Amino acid sequence: MSRKSLYDLITAPTQLIYNEKTRGLMLRPPLLVLMATLGAGALHAQDADPWRVDELALGVHASLSVPPYPPSLYSNSLIIVGQRSVLLVDTREVPRAGDDLVRAIEAITDLPIRYVVNSHWHWDHVNGNQSVRAVFPDVSFVMHPETSRLLLEEGPGRIAERAAGHRRRLDETRARLAADAEDERPEEERMTREDMRALVVRDSTRAEAYDSVVPIGADELVEDRWSPPGFEGRVELIATGLGHTPGDIAVWLPAERILFVGDLIEDGFPYTGDGSVLGTARALRQLSALGAVTVVPGHGSVESPDTLFEPQARLLTTVAELACASRDDALTDQDGAFEVFHRTVRTLTEDYRATTAADMDEAAYARGLETLVTQAWEEAPGACLA
Ligand SMILES: [Zn+2]
Repeated sequence: MSRKSLYDLITAPTQLIYNEKTRGLMLRPPLLVLMATLGAGALHAQDADPWRVDELALGVHASLSVPPYPPSLYSNSLIIVGQRSVLLVDTREVPRAGDDLVRAIEAITDLPIRYVVNSHWHWDHVNGNQSVRAVFPDVSFVMHPETSRLLLEEGPGRIAERAAGHRRRLDETRARLAADAEDERPEEERMTREDMRALVVRDSTRAEAYDSVVPIGADELVEDRWSPPGFEGRVELIATGLGHTPGDIAVWLPAERILFVGDLIEDGFPYTGDGSVLGTARALRQLSALGAVTVVPGHGSVESPDTLFEPQARLLTTVAELACASRDDALTDQDGAFEVFHRTVRTLTEDYRATTAADMDEAAYARGLETLVTQAWEEAPGACLA
């Protein structure tokens, strides 16, 4: 198989996504939509690259996933070309994709990648770390101590779960192919034999891709603010405390007013299942004060602050404050207070959804809402925003 088609199969949109809440793999309805849109071809090798690299300012590039590749799976990276070296933020979700990122950077500049900043420990932002080290052995990995710890301790388990999920589906698809029976699933989920064969190849390559991940921890730790040597005045790394995860780092470029926020902001619904609603609200409030003009999220498109960042910050702040106030009143009637809180958050999130055109399906919205409500409620006692 040619290198290019192998790569396509690894990176083509997948039907399985990792659900961080249940820590398992689940079927993602958007793929069904995608298949309906593109027909059977959606499952086959595609010529398009899942990413494109945009120059946001002189020497500042963003690698962004391109539709119809689901942004939830294909993470963004920021590339900052300095005087003598390159600083890269986040390295994609499999080493093969990391290799491609390194090549994309080599097409931009001859300068070596000196720093890799990992915005947080989640697999889809760090699995390409080894791709950078392979080409630039002197590269320093920069992260929060908690990111380094979680990446090394929890990362391998989550990656193994993903590989196992692909293998499970591989077995199922193979069995279905061998049985040659009528496909009894609903029409929109049915696949042709050709589709199933393509899925078999993709699942096995994906599983192998996850098997090939070698977790790489920190060389430099950031617990507060830091500008790496050579990037003083140009790039500021800001550790924002427990938010999306315990070790989030935002990347601030004061001259260009560009802010890379990682997954503190997500297109759709903020995910705080590995972190904190209150903490994310605090982090966003802190970052909002910087006065960014351009916000690059960990997934999805580059935005001005008013399209996604500020509405999401407002939503989380309001939910956290409301949880705090409701729980104060809830000493005698916890259940009643929770019910009112739940209803209010539902109204708030529906408004948020309507005004931000947040990209999410019903199931994702329902899950996001439930996580937000229960987590904010659990966090509220003794933890208010002010
Ligand atoms: Zn994440």
